[in-house]
Amino acid sequence: MMAAGQAAEVGAETLLLEKMDRPGRKLRIAGKGRCNLTNLAPLSEFVAHFGPNGRFLRQAFAQFSNSDLVAFFEKLGVRTVTERGGRVFPVSGQAQDVVDALVRWIRDQGATLRTRSPVERLLVEEGRVTGVQVSQGQVYHADAAIVATGGASYPATGSTGDGYRLAASLGHTIVPIRPALVPLETAGDVAPRLQGLSLRNVTVRVWGNGQKQAEAFGEMLFTHFGVSGPIILSLSRQVVDALRLGQRVILSIDLKPALDEGRLDARLLRDLDAHGKQQFRTLLKGLLPSKLIPVCINLTGIPSDKRAHQITSEERQRLRTWLKDFRLEVTGHRPFAEAIITAGGVDTREVGPRTMASRLVEGLYFAGEVLDVDADTGGYNLQAAFSTGWVAGRSAAQ
Ligand SMILES: Cc1cc2nc3c(=O)[nH]c(=O)nc-3n(C[C@H](O)[C@H](O)[C@H](O)COP(=O)(O)OP(=O)(O)OC[C@H]3O[C@@H](n4cnc5c(N)ncnc54)[C@H](O)[C@@H]3O)c2cc1C
Repeated sequence: MMAAGQAAEVGAETLLLEKMDRPGRKLRIAGKGRCNLTNLAPLSEFVAHFGPNGRFLRQAFAQFSNSDLVAFFEKLGVRTVTERGGRVFPVSGQAQDVVDALVRWIRDQGATLRTRSPVERLLVEEGRVTGVQVSQGQVYHADAAIVATGGASYPATGSTGDGYRLAASLGHTIVPIRPALVPLETAGDVAPRLQGLSLRNVTVRVWGNGQKQAEAFGEMLFTHFGVSGPIILSLSRQVVDALRLGQRVILSIDLKPALDEGRLDARLLRDLDAHGKQQFRTLLKGLLPSKLIPVCINLTGIPSDKRAHQITSEERQRLRTWLKDFRLEVTGHRPFAEAIITAGGVDTREVGPRTMASRLVEGLYFAGEVLDVDADTGGYNLQAAFSTGWVAGRSAAQ
């Protein structure tokens, strides 16, 4: 929608072909229906959230930045509010308002929106785009085409990965696609026993074949299949890649990240001293959420009815180690249908970062998640889609 509106605004006759019955289905569910439009982080920090491919986006962000996006939506009547961590949302808390504003705007610019029109083929003659063909066989002639078909995540929204096939058919390299920002499955019955428990202010470390791959501090959640929540989704990129390499992946949860081993030991000694007559399970109430207590007793092997003053120093060490290093083995990840975003896609080395133009086919452009760019949660992914859309629309029109 951003690409179509910009192309029309700078004077091109523009047709937006949308496969579904209406545009913006994914946008409508973004940010749990509140739509985290962008993030106010400064450019260098912003780009860092994309990992190595962030560099490709620099020029698009420079041409249409996060503050430009906020100003753009304010002009369309979508007032925004900035929340914790620089996250920007519409004041109304309604993603639908963002979709409606975009649809109104593209119509006002004179672009034509045609729904239920899945593009099947890009037409090319002598290395130049000549048009597209939709599924009913209808052909639309054009001097330029912008592929903005999204990724392969949440396919019910319409993003079923068609763009990868379209780009590959014209010779573009597709970096293998993987689910990203995706919940993880874990071995054994620990996660199901803890289902519904959310842990705040914990540090989770990812180990692949015994090597630390990544760590994150914040909130996580146990589910019937494993783990989810903000820091798990952020770490999933490294986990999915380690699993693909065939590595054994362990998540180590530090339940007391504010205390190093020494300070935690001193705290445990103090508690055991002060409450010598208490049973171990009662003592744990001061240390852990109640759902975790039976799991702790199980995994440390300390009898639940043992009195605090009878706990040996070896048992105390076991407890301390478990509190700092509660381990879960990752057996897999949830499918594309549950991944917030798709990693991989059209190889950015074959796309001009200043124009989003294909380096292989004249008149072909890319925008959004179909490109091999993906970031953490926080509004970065939508800004990337909007900025690359802005650039692709304008350069295609020119
Ligand atoms: C549950 C969820 C929550 C999210 N929340 C946020 C958030 O709060 N903030 C954030 O920054 N990011 C969020 N994201 C990610 C963000 O929504 C996407 O990265 C972004 O929508 C990508 O934009 P896009 O235009 O490239 O693709 P999409 O939004 O996927 O749009 C692609 C469009 O192309 C259409 N299409 C596909 N194939 C064809 C075809 N062959 N012919 C015609 N049309 C076709 C699709 O129907 C779709 O309408 C979220 C994602 C999910 C799944």
